[in-house]
Amino acid sequence: MESVLSSFSIPYSLGALLVALLGMFLLFGPYARWKQQQLQKKDSAYAQSKGWSYERLQEERNKKRSRAISSRLRKMILERDNHQCQQCGSRTDLTIDHIFPFSRGGGKEPNNLQMLCHRCNAKKSDAIL
Ligand SMILES: [Zn+2]
Repeated sequence: MESVLSSFSIPYSLGALLVALLGMFLLFGPYARWKQQQLQKKDSAYAQSKGWSYERLQEERNKKRSRAISSRLRKMILERDNHQCQQCGSRTDLTIDHIFPFSRGGGKEPNNLQMLCHRCNAKKSDAIL
């Protein structure tokens, strides 16, 4: 009796593994698609705000661009944002944040820049990933 059971145990665990994989696939597929759609919506909205086509945004993203922000621009954004983090109001550890991410083609126009403290900036990049 015992030998019959143990000979069944391998196919059984393989079956369980397949069911688990199928379950993950079924759950993850729609989630990944949804996530992709969210990103595309944000991309389109940004492209539209610049009067660009979606293709133009993709070109821009692939270009070699400098991330550096001049001290003059930095000062301008700091003053506009009242030397405060735009999320929590902190006045320390301020950095310049691209509202629409630089890595996705976001530019340095003042309305795409804001002051964020290090903590809020880190939280924001977690949310995007
Ligand atoms: Zn903050």
